[in-house]
Amino acid sequence: MFAPTLLVDRSIIVTGGGSGLGLAMAKTFVSYGAKVTIAGRSGERLERAGAEIADSAREGGEVATFPADVRRPEETDALIARAVARFGRADGLVNNAAGNFLAESAALTPNGFDAVVRTVLYGSVNCTLALGRHLLERGAPGAIVSIVATYASLGTAYALPSACAKAGVLAMTRSLAVEWGGRGIRLNAIAPGPIPTEGAFSRLMPSPEAQERALERIPLGRFGRPEEIANLATFLLSDLCPYQTGDCVTMDGGEWIAGAGEFSDYRKLPDDRRRRFFDSLRPKKSGER
Ligand code: NAP
Repeated sequence: MFAPTLLVDRSIIVTGGGSGLGLAMAKTFVSYGAKVTIAGRSGERLERAGAEIADSAREGGEVATFPADVRRPEETDALIARAVARFGRADGLVNNAAGNFLAESAALTPNGFDAVVRTVLYGSVNCTLALGRHLLERGAPGAIVSIVATYASLGTAYALPSACAKAGVLAMTRSLAVEWGGRGIRLNAIAPGPIPTEGAFSRLMPSPEAQERALERIPLGRFGRPEEIANLATFLLSDLCPYQTGDCVTMDGGEWIAGAGEFSDYRKLPDDRRRRFFDSLRPKKSGER
């Protein structure tokens, strides 16, 4: 899709790189020559993923693993230091680590709210500030991509902690895009629609009925693929879009806008039924039945 050397010599950190979208992104980055450091809490999961990522490496691409809990600033500082020690510097970051669960908001416990917000919002802030300090100190350019969700802008029922946290990550993205723009540091976000990963679907959409209902909401009629998000993240981290910052790119098969369009649900009717219905609403000319 891109030139094979697009990310050669870039040192990119991917949080939550041991599974799902993070793993797919890391594999794609090394296939374009990047030096990637993946982080997550489970060292075992990272080691397994590291071997898989190494198999995708081309053009000098390499992978390193570093167990770190993004909720802890001392561990995210160590993560950036580790990428710098191993690859000589750090230029890019994907804030991808997250947790989420469904609950009626009135039943949320302080711990439940805290767990998600600390991972998603504090985790993204910790990693972003740690990389930002490194880049500012070096006077070097950089690119940061945060994986949010369409409900970062819209809100959503039944996932209040994640909605609050993702909205905060989007605010961070826009705030720092302005504050650090003059220093050559770009920040963008990606808002994916539903993409089958073990982590997300086992917690949020486990039954065939829930998946069927979700598919009905998506004009393109299918779920997204991890590789599609990985291609977009590659583009946003690369020099192909040096003028793009403070943006949030939605990749959701049209789910978001379809949900908002007052008349969009008519698309779910069979063509002939919809046409008959629209015809029945047409004002009749005199003499027409
Ligand atoms: P996933 O496989 O569950 O990925 C989450 C990753 O985050 C795991 O590798 C997990 O590894 C890591 N993680 C969790 N807590 C952490 C912590 N405190 N410190 C460091 N790492 C931590 O789910 P996914 O579907 O790939 O999700 C990836 C991102 O896409 C998330 O930001 C999610 O909100 C976003 N997203 C996904 C979808 C979708 O449909 N898949 C839709 C919209 C947005 P450990 O458990 O080993 O720490």
